[in-house]
Amino acid sequence: MASPTPNSEQKMQSVVSLCRRRAFIFQSSEIYGGLNGCWDYGPLGVELKWNIKQAWWRDMVMSRDDVVGVDCSILMNPRTWEASGHVQSFTDPMVDCTKCKGRFRADQISNNQCPSCGTKNSFTETRQFNLMFKTYVGAVEDNSSQTYLRPETCQGIFANFANIVSTSRVKVPFGIAQIGKAFRNEINPRNFIFRSREFEQMEMEFFVRPEPQEAEKWFEYWKTFRYDWYLKHGISKERLHLRIHEPSELAHYAAGCADIEYDFPFGRSELEGVANRTDYDLKKHSEFSKKDLSYFDAETQKRYFPYVIEPSAGVDRALLAFLCDAYTEEPERVVLKFHPKIAPVKVAIFPLVNKDGMPDLAEKIYKELKHRWNCFYDDKGAVGRRYRRQDEAGTPFCVTVDGESTASYTVTIRERDSMLQERVAIDQIQTYVAKRLEGA
Ligand code: ATP
Repeated sequence: MASPTPNSEQKMQSVVSLCRRRAFIFQSSEIYGGLNGCWDYGPLGVELKWNIKQAWWRDMVMSRDDVVGVDCSILMNPRTWEASGHVQSFTDPMVDCTKCKGRFRADQISNNQCPSCGTKNSFTETRQFNLMFKTYVGAVEDNSSQTYLRPETCQGIFANFANIVSTSRVKVPFGIAQIGKAFRNEINPRNFIFRSREFEQMEMEFFVRPEPQEAEKWFEYWKTFRYDWYLKHGISKERLHLRIHEPSELAHYAAGCADIEYDFPFGRSELEGVANRTDYDLKKHSEFSKKDLSYFDAETQKRYFPYVIEPSAGVDRALLAFLCDAYTEEPERVVLKFHPKIAPVKVAIFPLVNKDGMPDLAEKIYKELKHRWNCFYDDKGAVGRRYRRQDEAGTPFCVTVDGESTASYTVTIRERDSMLQERVAIDQIQTYVAKRLEGA
């Protein structure tokens, strides 16, 4: 991990405080002191998150002929987690400080010194700590009713593989995608929403013929596709990196893995993983469920277990990367330079002075635009302050209805990044905005 500079620590603090102030992100159950590793999204945050998920779904599912979607339950039969290996080995090595009772990941301790109280050589033996949250289904709390909150979304996809193959017109190569919550009892949740205990994933399992060259070809394809996806939605190229795993880093089931990493203010860290999971998962689920999850290929007349290429992204980590990348301090303003497609509010409408007829006209424009995009109406305070508020929210266009508007039936549209203003006919506003949003 590249080490952060003091300047970047300050940037992280500024991003976190902007998120709180402008209702992007709050601590979960803040009135009770919060819950470590859990976060709530406010009005702007939820729009941003929604736009990221929509952009992913549009590019990974809707616009393709070879991927279908599912939405699986969070609670699954506990055998799932035995088959996937999570019960056995989804663990982190953990130590407790005997002085302050703090609990830490053993691999994150340096010089045998407690990161919390500073005491040296005061740790317990390393123990393996399972990261899955346990829960009970039904009224009786015993071993037979115990299950887990899913720690990843993809197992629901593998468990439904045969259902999809037998009911949809999918043919290898094809993918099954899902967006949903995942839960991990992380020992040290940290870096704001980067490592949380409850988070969302966007995962897609892409099933291909079990030939190494075929799997390799699709691995290359998805690695590039996913890297480009972040660029396409505005992440700057100099902060985005692809890192190929060394063979020694690979999970036991994986034949290849690449991390898409981002230079967060706290250092370079994983945004998304793209892995060649081989035929491991389908074979394991066949073995544990005693259901044959092999696939009959009508073209080759052969039955086999497909290989799987998996791009697995975190919604919250993507959102944090978009926020950090967009955050810009200029002499006169703080501005979130979001790509227009993911900006929470697309257009703000300002009636300039409270003259006869003007608020009516502004409201009419607002109501029309609101049918199509998330818009914000602001008639409070000086127009300069209204612009600043929208800059901080990342709104790409501000429409000002001024003294001339009622007579000439025109408004000014101000573009967020350049701050340039253009006079546009009222009946052309939608075309103007659509061209810039959709063409962006
Ligand atoms: P890390 O090494 O950071 O713990 P991982 O390699 O265990 O991550 P995966 O199991 O590959 O992560 O999960 C896929 C994606 O899910 C990650 O790239 C990340 O975007 C997201 N993710 C995983 N754990 C968390 C978490 N605790 N909080 C937020 N997002 C997470």
